[in-house]
Amino acid sequence: MDTLPRAAAPRAQTDQELDARAQAVLGGGSTHIVRSYRPRIYVVRAQGSRKWLIDGRELVDYTMGHGALLFGHSHPEITAAVAYQAARGTHYGAANEAEIEWAERIARMVASVERVRFTSSGTEATLLALRLARAFTGREMVAKLVGHFHGWHDAVQVDGHGGPAGIPEETASLTRVVDPALPAVLDQALGDGKVAALILEASGAHYGGTPLPPGFVDQARELCTRTGTLLVVDEVVTGFRVARGGMQELLGVRPDLSTFAKAMAGGLPGGAVGGRAAVMDLLGPAREGAEPVVEHPGTFNANPLCAAAGCAALRLIEETDAIERTSATAAELEAVWRDRLRAQGVPGSVRRLASIVHCELNDPDAAARLPALMREAGVDLFRTSAFVSTAHDDADIELTATALDHSLARLAAGS
Ligand code: PLP
Repeated sequence: MDTLPRAAAPRAQTDQELDARAQAVLGGGSTHIVRSYRPRIYVVRAQGSRKWLIDGRELVDYTMGHGALLFGHSHPEITAAVAYQAARGTHYGAANEAEIEWAERIARMVASVERVRFTSSGTEATLLALRLARAFTGREMVAKLVGHFHGWHDAVQVDGHGGPAGIPEETASLTRVVDPALPAVLDQALGDGKVAALILEASGAHYGGTPLPPGFVDQARELCTRTGTLLVVDEVVTGFRVARGGMQELLGVRPDLSTFAKAMAGGLPGGAVGGRAAVMDLLGPAREGAEPVVEHPGTFNANPLCAAAGCAALRLIEETDAIERTSATAAELEAVWRDRLRAQGVPGSVRRLASIVHCELNDPDAAARLPALMREAGVDLFRTSAFVSTAHDDADIELTATALDHSLARLAAGS
């Protein structure tokens, strides 16, 4: 630690000390709503499938960078690519080859992608996709599905009842929120030809946590085509994780636009919109001197550091069995989780989408308590879900089984 620069060297001794400093200086006392639970954990180091806390405790990590770390923490190849690039400049203020390779890899793996534009996050990607759709169709309205998350910009963070504070009603009124359990409602929402784009998680809300009715995405595709609405499939979590070609490959659907982030950037910030050339070319024809129809600046779009991490991660996804391997490990976790629920007599269900495992407990109070109990027992879930990486192994699954026994027994006993 002595060799670290001062800014990087941890100085605090306890969670309580850091909590007090966080409350005094961070908006909301935290940096993300998902990490604002109590008691909070403060991490000092992570490697592979594990992370270490300020008091020295070791946790099996299934948050995996909110799903961004398909290869676990600090995978050697991704770390080497980042270190190599960091020493050669993090921003050239000019074009470079890595951004092209990054886009080529995306276009090669995702069949519907003819062109790619990079952003710095998933939120920016869905923002840009809707902007492009509005410009392409000349329509103002957009549609989304109840409970589907697409980031925190105004158009997608409405809940159908006016949206959270800070979003003007006029803005919220431009988003139609559709309940996918009522298919006729989608017809009504798109039928008047006023909607530029329907955006959805093709896996169902929360990356497969709440699956869509069978055939829903096909119907949505057909309805979008019939009404001149662009279909935007949000693959921020599912892209390059559930299949090389994302959820759209598994379902055999071809969206007009797709949004990506997380796994595609190898654990660094990065996002992208990809899709039909006719729509993407609104960003600017490749001709010299031609003006773009849709302007999209962004200081850190495809910066060389993130591009290096992204290229390394996508190379591993394209050329190794990472997706198959993580899915197999997740299947073991799914079986263990289901078995422990049954053994401990806690009513609930477990479902899996490739390397993502979701647990739903029937009792909402029990579901709210499970993550904290699991942390106490040495396992950090992402809410009540788990992102499995190539770094997770049998030892992690065994520790998780023990932690589940401990936590579910406490829940069953009501203690
Ligand atoms: N879309 C989906 C499906 C997501 O799950 C998320 C974030 O979790 C986003 C978009 C927003 O991405 P970001 O957090 O990178 O802005």
